[in-house]
Amino acid sequence: MLHPKLWVSSNSDITFNTSHDGLAGKITVTLTPGQLEVFWSDPAAAFASVYGITRGDCLAWQAAGYMAQCAELTTKGWQCRNPVHGGHPVATPDRWVAMRGKYSLIHQEGVSK
Ligand SMILES: [Zn+2]
Repeated sequence: MLHPKLWVSSNSDITFNTSHDGLAGKITVTLTPGQLEVFWSDPAAAFASVYGITRGDCLAWQAAGYMAQCAELTTKGWQCRNPVHGGHPVATPDRWVAMRGKYSLIHQEGVSK
């Protein structure tokens, strides 16, 4: 999940870096001073801020196994369990949020259920 560990890299400027789990290991992100302040009390909220999404979406992306699920309902009224076309897996949570409401290959527009 999230890794509340910070490190500082110094080139010309000092930057604050941290990481979270992604598809192929940890993804490193750089925090602004404002995000750093949030990070101390709520790492998930800081990650969400980096990606410009909500805290809940950030956690949901990981909880979903990085898969964007098809928004279509089956004939029985359940949500289709197939991933969105190109949405399995999704590399970053902001892309995952952008794929919400999209459809799997078999439910894409112009294709019958
Ligand atoms: Zn579908």
